[in-house]
Amino acid sequence: MTRCEGCVLENYCEGSKDNVDGEVAIVEQWAKEHPEKKRKTYAEDFFSKYPDAPHSTKNGMETDRPAACRMVIYGGGPLCITTKCDCAACWNEEMEASE
Ligand SMILES: [Zn+2]
Repeated sequence: MTRCEGCVLENYCEGSKDNVDGEVAIVEQWAKEHPEKKRKTYAEDFFSKYPDAPHSTKNGMETDRPAACRMVIYGGGPLCITTKCDCAACWNEEMEASE
């Protein structure tokens, strides 16, 4: 039992310093598989840019999504009015992480 158990560099820990390139590759691979960046939803992105935009309402209550189909603004798919959903899913979808 060592404190290195579970470390992605375990195999290199006791090794020579000749493996630095290998370590970098391992860390990069690990980072690729474990993105820490929290993804935001389209609704969060929209309101961060247009905080005064109107919200849609449902049963008289404001929802947490804009008063338009996401596809009107961001594109990327058929408008919900044609697919008969209420846009909750399309606005709550997470955006691709952007740098
Ligand atoms: Zn929609």
